[in-house]
Amino acid sequence: MTDIINLLPDNIANQIAAGEVIQRPASAVKEMLENAVDAGATAINLIINDAGKSLIQVIDNGKGMSETDARMSFERHATSKIQNIDDLFHIRTMGFRGEALASIAAVAQIELKTRRAEDELGTYIEIDNSVVKKQEPCACPVGTSISMKNLFFNVPARRNFLKSNAAEMRHIVDEFIHVSLAFPGIFFTLTSNGQQVFHLESGNLKQRFIQLLGHQYNTRLVPVNETTDYLDINGFVGKPEAAKKTRGDQYFFVNNRFIKSAYLNHAVTSAFDALLPKDSFPVYALFIDLNPAQVDINVHPTKQEIKFEDEKIVYAFVQAAVKHALAQFSVSPSLDFTLNADIMQTEAVSQPFTDQHKASVTASELYKKFSQKNQAHLLDPRHGKTGLGNWRDFFETKSNKENIPNEELVKPSLYEEVEKNIPVVQTQLLNTYIAAILNDGFLLIHQQHAHERILFERYAASIQSIQAPTQQSLFPVTLELSPQDDALLQELLPDLRLLGYKIEPFGKSSFIIQGVPADILQRNEKHSVEILLEQYKHFSSELKFSPREKLVHCMARQQAIKAGQSLTEKEMQVLVEELFNCTMPSVTPNGNPVFVEFNDEQLLKLFGK
Ligand code: ADP
Ligand code: MG
Repeated sequence: MTDIINLLPDNIANQIAAGEVIQRPASAVKEMLENAVDAGATAINLIINDAGKSLIQVIDNGKGMSETDARMSFERHATSKIQNIDDLFHIRTMGFRGEALASIAAVAQIELKTRRAEDELGTYIEIDNSVVKKQEPCACPVGTSISMKNLFFNVPARRNFLKSNAAEMRHIVDEFIHVSLAFPGIFFTLTSNGQQVFHLESGNLKQRFIQLLGHQYNTRLVPVNETTDYLDINGFVGKPEAAKKTRGDQYFFVNNRFIKSAYLNHAVTSAFDALLPKDSFPVYALFIDLNPAQVDINVHPTKQEIKFEDEKIVYAFVQAAVKHALAQFSVSPSLDFTLNADIMQTEAVSQPFTDQHKASVTASELYKKFSQKNQAHLLDPRHGKTGLGNWRDFFETKSNKENIPNEELVKPSLYEEVEKNIPVVQTQLLNTYIAAILNDGFLLIHQQHAHERILFERYAASIQSIQAPTQQSLFPVTLELSPQDDALLQELLPDLRLLGYKIEPFGKSSFIIQGVPADILQRNEKHSVEILLEQYKHFSSELKFSPREKLVHCMARQQAIKAGQSLTEKEMQVLVEELFNCTMPSVTPNGNPVFVEFNDEQLLKLFGK
């Protein structure tokens, strides 16, 4: 019998370990930026080529490394930041596990140049696949420059899993924002494919926030500052009017480490209470500082979740601090808050559709035009391909022959519909369900689900073939986005164009919406794009959908008639007609049922016959 257990060679062990730490270019960016911060740098330059796939370089002016340390730094579990287990509970540095450089060196080609102030010459090291290829003294500035080239060159399976450049770049920008927001005193730049994307002078948090997230926040931030024995909270929340339709700009840091916490997010949102416009998300960057012993940061290196010794206390503090800040702020007349809050409470803004208002609006000519346009997709014969088929033909020929007034035409006789086995609309129930008769029973059709299915098939068809019709905006609207949303929108633009959006980039993180698909209400252009981005981001990340399919899903969901909307008989009939011309009328794109069928037999059973 031979023994069968081997020790893995270092480079393979490191590669396996690297899988935990370096999942994508952005993970390496995070580790390298954090090392530069830990080294006490006051200036950090991040250089990216090809969304990090070919190059990630971080140049810092921090304390540098000795020749021995430079070589040591690539060993697994090599760290200068802790010496014994007790140190774990006092960690103030970003790193401490000593895994990052070893992992990076296992999955990429590395060039390191580093020098300490006290050394005349620095050290140059080249590593490939965990193997040192070259080490020699070199002349270089104080500090460290690490270049990581061709990420995953030796692990093709992982390389193939990387997303599009736009998507990977979005993750990199996220990490860059997290680190640079946490250290506004440090000068940062980010250069991508030779173009400088960010140039962040050192300053205070407010300045950094505005540099990163846009000047629109300049007059829209409320400071939060609370100091207690247990923890400190500092930072900013956006005024209610700065709230966004997309969840983007929400940042929590615990001891300067970016974290994600739905729980604490809830604390902030609840502090805003009724001040927030419906369906919008508050903007904030909040820094919680507490004794490291109260937090368990010894979690997985790439996880952004955190465990607090007592989560509920932190929740209560965050909520109270934000409430306090908002209240303090609202009594300060120089800041216009009372006025804004009052405006937001007025009926016109908060409830634009009281019945009275609705009646007056719907009577106007303008509304009629809008609503006709809005229904264009229901009635427009251009969509006949998957759409109205026989039914429309039937009426068109009939109308030619007999010249019957239009109103009569749209209502097919019961007889003819049943004959073709198309359900005939009877009535709308609860403003949500359409009851429709079949030969031997009836259907309860969920109107929103039905419309989602119809739109889904229509959009899916148009994105594959010709461009969907666009309506030009009379007054093009500009859209300002956060860098992450900017990257996302850039990525979606080609598909959005096919769907009928006409959107052009317009300066940094801004876009002009010049046209929208023919069935979107004109005054909702901006909203529709914002909602689309938001839905897209929160679309469950099941792998079975391509980005394009996700987009089509989101569009369909957004544009569908909603439950609770009253429909005319004509609208219902067209809806049902279009539904049954779909390839898969019985389920929504997400797999929910569109209708429930009751036949004679079942009904009799239900009644005990
Ligand atoms: P950790 O940050 O967890 O200690 P790393 O693998 O990221 O582990 O880095 C290993 C060690 O290399 C660090 O502890 C630090 O001493 C040194 N080091 C890494 N990057 C730099 C840098 N940019 N400047 C100076 N020292 C660095
Ligand atoms: Mg580190």
